[in-house]
Amino acid sequence: MDTKKYIYSFGNGHGEGDRTMDNLLGGKGANLAEMSTIGMPVPSGFTISAEVCDYYNKHDGDWPDAVDDQLKENISQLEKRMDLRLGDNDDPLLVSVRSGAAISMPGMMDTVLNLGLNDQSVQGLANKTDNPRFAYDSYRRFIDMFGNVVKGVDHEQFEEAMQEVKKKKGVDLDTDLDAKGMKEDVDRFKRVYQEAVGEDFSQDPQEQLKLAINAVFGSWNTPRAITYRKINQITGLLGTAVNVQSMVYGNMGDESATGVCFTRNPADGTNELYGEFLPNAQGEDVVAGIRTPHDINELEEAMPESYEQLYQLTENLEEHYKDMQDIEFTIQEGKLYFLQTRDGKRTGKAAVKIAIDMASEGLISKEQAIKLVAPNHLNQLLHPQFKEDDEEDMIGKGLPASPGAAVGKVVFSSEKAEKMHDDGEAVILVRIETSPEDVGGMSSSKGILTSRGGMTSHAAVVARGWGKPCVTGCDDIDIDYSSGTFTNGATTMEEGDWISIDGTSGKVFKGKKPVKDPSFGENYHTLMSWIDEHQNMMVRTNADTPDDAQKARDFGATGIGLIRTEHMFFGEKRINSMRKMILSENKEERKQALEDLLPYQKEDFRNIFEAMESRPVTVRLLDPPLHEFLPDDDTELQSVSQSLDVSEEELQRKVKSLKEVNPMLGHRGCRLGISYPEITAVQTRAILEAAIELEEKDGSADPEIMIPLVSTIEEFVEQKKVVNNTAENIFNERGRTIDYKVGTMIETPRAALVAGEVAKEADFFSFGTNDLTQMTFGFSRDDAGKFLDTYLDEGIVENDPFKVLDHQGVGVLVTEALQKGREQNESLKVGICGEHGGDPSSVQFCYNLGFDYVSCSPYRVPIARLAVAQAQLAQDG
Ligand code: ADP
Ligand code: MG
Ligand code: MG
Repeated sequence: MDTKKYIYSFGNGHGEGDRTMDNLLGGKGANLAEMSTIGMPVPSGFTISAEVCDYYNKHDGDWPDAVDDQLKENISQLEKRMDLRLGDNDDPLLVSVRSGAAISMPGMMDTVLNLGLNDQSVQGLANKTDNPRFAYDSYRRFIDMFGNVVKGVDHEQFEEAMQEVKKKKGVDLDTDLDAKGMKEDVDRFKRVYQEAVGEDFSQDPQEQLKLAINAVFGSWNTPRAITYRKINQITGLLGTAVNVQSMVYGNMGDESATGVCFTRNPADGTNELYGEFLPNAQGEDVVAGIRTPHDINELEEAMPESYEQLYQLTENLEEHYKDMQDIEFTIQEGKLYFLQTRDGKRTGKAAVKIAIDMASEGLISKEQAIKLVAPNHLNQLLHPQFKEDDEEDMIGKGLPASPGAAVGKVVFSSEKAEKMHDDGEAVILVRIETSPEDVGGMSSSKGILTSRGGMTSHAAVVARGWGKPCVTGCDDIDIDYSSGTFTNGATTMEEGDWISIDGTSGKVFKGKKPVKDPSFGENYHTLMSWIDEHQNMMVRTNADTPDDAQKARDFGATGIGLIRTEHMFFGEKRINSMRKMILSENKEERKQALEDLLPYQKEDFRNIFEAMESRPVTVRLLDPPLHEFLPDDDTELQSVSQSLDVSEEELQRKVKSLKEVNPMLGHRGCRLGISYPEITAVQTRAILEAAIELEEKDGSADPEIMIPLVSTIEEFVEQKKVVNNTAENIFNERGRTIDYKVGTMIETPRAALVAGEVAKEADFFSFGTNDLTQMTFGFSRDDAGKFLDTYLDEGIVENDPFKVLDHQGVGVLVTEALQKGREQNESLKVGICGEHGGDPSSVQFCYNLGFDYVSCSPYRVPIARLAVAQAQLAQDG
C-alpha cells in the first residue's frame, strides 16, 4: 500500500509544511503553510503535492492510489474546521483551486475561484449573506473560470455576454450591476458554457473539484507554460502543486476589497507599502485591468482599520521572511486575509537598495545582504539611460513599471516582435495589455509599452523580472491593432516607426533618443565594499585595450586574465605591417615587418600595465589563423595590393594558400609560433620591454606570457624556450631583469589529459573554456546556433554549454587537469578566461575547485565579484 503523504493542510495557526518545502508544495503552498504557522490570517485549506502532478502527467491523467482517500479525508477536515459543507444547499463551503510551482510563473497557470456553487447553493449563499448580488457575482465568476480553465472556453465569450447585460442595463462597470443583473449574467454564462462545451454546467461540487484539480495539473504542460519555463531556464521541477483553499470574499460590498502589495517599492527599493487594491472585487480583477485599481495609500482613507492591520502584518511578514514580500490580500467586510506571499521580484536598483537598507535597519547581516542581490540584478544596473532628461518629442506618459531606457521600432504583435528580433532589429512591443501568450514577443523586445494596466499588470511584473524597460497604463495613446497604428490625437505612429521609452519615468517619445551609460549610485558602492571582504578568488578581466583595462579596474577587476594580442593588429598602420608580415617570403622580411609592429604593441602593453597598477596581466601570444588578417573580397584585395605595393595576383595567390578547410583546427595558436618563432620573439620583446620601461620610470608590472592552444608538452617547451631566450637577450641589452611567468592555456582536450606533464614546465594554467567546450563537444561555436536551439528545446542539453560550463563533461576535464597540475606543481596558478568566467554558476564551480582567479569581460566583473562572494559565503555556510 502506498503510505506516502500527498496532501498537506494549512490554516488556523498551523501548517503541515513550511517554506523550505517548495519543491513539493510549490512556493504558494509552502508559504501558505509557513504563514499559517506564524499566525497570519490565512483561510484554511490544503495542498496536493507536485508529486501528484508529476504522476498525473506521466500516467495519462491518473492519480497515485492513496490520493483519493487523502483528498476525502482533507475535505472532511476542512469542512469540520469551517463548519460548512461542500455542496450544501443552504450554507455551502466554497473553495479556490490554485496552481503553484516551486518557482513562480506569473499568470502562467490556472486558478478557479468560488468552486462548490451550483443552482441551489447560490440561493443558499444569497439567503445566508442576505446579499444576492454577491452570490450571483460569485457564481458567474465561477462559471467563467471553470469554463475557461477546465473546458477551454474562451474567456472573451463570457466577457461579451456580460457586456450585453451591462448595455441592456445601461451601466459601465461590473460593480454597477445589481443582483438582477448578476443573475442575468449567470443565466447567460450558463448558456455560453452549454453551447461551447455541449453539456450543462456541472452541478456536482465533488466532480467540479476533481475536474478543476486535474485541469491545474494539466496546465503545467500548456505550450505557454513550456515556453515560459524555457525562456526563464526553469528546469528540474516535478510540476505544479494544487492548493484547495476556503474562499474569502472581497466582493461583498464596499467594506470588502482585494489587492496586491509589496512591503517595499519593487521598482526603486523605497521602504514603503506599495501596491494596489480594488473595492468590491475578487481575485484577479486587480491584475486583469477590469477597473483601474487604486493606489494602496488610498486604502488608508477608505478603510482605515483594515489599512492599519495590513500595514502592521505586512511588516511582520517582512521581518519573518527577512526579505521584501509580494503579498495578495483580501478584505472581507473589514477583516483582512492573506492569500499569498513570496519574495518579491524587483529591479536591480531596488535589489541593491533593499539589501543595503535591510542591513542598516538591523533586519539582516551584511552577509545576508550580499545573498539578497542576484547576479542578474547587478547586470540590470548596467542598463542604459537617456542622455537628456527632457520632454522633447514626448508623445505620452504612463506608469514607470520597469526602469531603463529602450529604443526600438514599434511592433504590435508578439509574433512580429519575435520575427523582427530574429532579423536583427530592435523592437518595442506596443500592446493594449500583455498576457502570458506574449512572453515570447516580450522577451524579443528591447522594451514594452502598454496603454492599460497598472504597476502590477502582467507586463510590469514580467518586465521587472527580466530587467527590461517597461511603461504601462499609458492612456495618452490609443492603439488600433487593425490599422497597425497608435495615436495620441496629435501624433500617429505606425508599425516600424522608431520610439523611445523610459521605464524610469514612464515617458514615451517618438524617434530615437540618445542613451548614455548608467551611473551606479552610493548603494552600489556600499554593496561592492561589503563584497570586497569576501574575495578569496580574484576576478580578473579580459581586456585588449588600455580603455577596457581602465573600465575593468573601475569595476574592481584585480588583474587581466586575457589580452588577445591579435586585436592590437587592426587599425590602419598596424594592419599594413601585419599583412606585410604574413606575406613575407622569408625570415628577414618577416622580422622587419614584425619590428614595425613592435612600437605599437609596446605602447599598448605599457598603457595596460599602467592601468592595472602592478597587478598581474596575462598576455596571450598570437592565436587566430593568419588568413583572418587578409582581405576577403575583390575590392578590398585591390586596395590592399595598392597600399602594400604587391601585385593583385601575388596577393590572391597568398590568400588562397592560407585558406583552410577547418581554420579553427588549423594553423593557429602555438602552431604559428612554432612555424614562425620570430612572432613569439617579437611579442615577448614588446611585453617585456614595456614592463622594463615602466619600471625604469618607477612603475611596475607583473606580466604573464601565455602560450595558446597547446596540446603536447613539446609544443609548450619549444615556445617557452623562445620566450626565455628573448627575455635573456633583453635583460642583457638593458642591464636589468624583471620577473615574468610563462604559462599555457588549457583549451584542447589533450592538454587537459597531459596536464600533469605540462604543469612541470608551466607557471600557470588558464582554462580557455570556449575552445575547450568547442573541442570537447565537437560543436563549432560559429555553427552551433543551427542546432543548439533544438537541443535546448528537446532537453538534449540543459544549458547552452558556451554560456554555462558543462559540469559533466568539460567540467571533468577541468577538474582532473587542475588536480594533476597541482600535484606536479604546487605553486601552479590556475584561472579561467572563457566566457564562463562571467557566468555566476560557472564562477561558483571554479571557486569550489580552488581556482586562483576567473577572468571575464569588464561589464561582467561586478557580477563575477558578487558570484565569488556568494560562493564563498555558501561554502562558509
Ligand atoms: P496566480 O498564481 O495567478 O496569482 P492565485 O492562485 O494566486 O493565482 O489566485 C488568483 C487570484 O485569486 C488571486 O488574486 C488570489 O488572491 C485570489 N484567490 C485565490 N484563492 C482565493 C480564496 N480562497 N479566496 C479569495 N481569493 C482567492
Ligand atoms: Mg492565475
Ligand atoms: Mg497569486
